[in-house]
Amino acid sequence: MALSRLAREFAAEINNHDWSDAPYRTDRAGHRRENDPNAGQRPPLGKVETDAVRMNVMWVVAQVLGHADPNLDEFEFAEACGVDTRTPSGRPRSGVISAGLRTDHDTGAYDVPGALAADDPNEDAYDRRPDRVATDAQRTRTWPADPKTRGFTTRRGQCVHSHEQCPKYRYGIASAERHGRRIHPIQWTTTGQAHAAGKAVCSFCWS
Ligand SMILES: [Zn+2]
Repeated sequence: MALSRLAREFAAEINNHDWSDAPYRTDRAGHRRENDPNAGQRPPLGKVETDAVRMNVMWVVAQVLGHADPNLDEFEFAEACGVDTRTPSGRPRSGVISAGLRTDHDTGAYDVPGALAADDPNEDAYDRRPDRVATDAQRTRTWPADPKTRGFTTRRGQCVHSHEQCPKYRYGIASAERHGRRIHPIQWTTTGQAHAAGKAVCSFCWS
């Protein structure tokens, strides 16, 4: 899924900014040491430290973008920021990237920026966002052979579940209650229709 214009432009600024002397030098957005006549008074950060600063900036911005747009692809965004999203052994899509974002375990909903989400005053406004769909990784799960298999989804849930006692679904409910978030009603459907709506199969219910 392509990044939104806003996400693309945030990423472009984060990627373009030279973070290697961020603790020592206030310059401007788009700072580059090679163009800075006052650079060089202190040795720049090493690559590890510079990458850590960039990653923190990426996470902070992704938290806000993901809260406003539930379909933000955090990996695509991180890569556009110039963050390496691979695992130490070189596999794609390291879980570290997702782990740096505050999201609801089951629904994937991003926590409210700037708070531990006791309450979201903009809940109604955000609730007019498009229905949430699954990530590419979730879509690769195997579907039940019969597309008429009964299951349920919610508007904001990324997954279709087979039963209400599913621990992943229950976890999502408990988390929403803890954070004072709206609990969206269950909509019974078929796996085929859920698939067509962009949902993924729950990794617990159907495995
Ligand atoms: Zn489930």
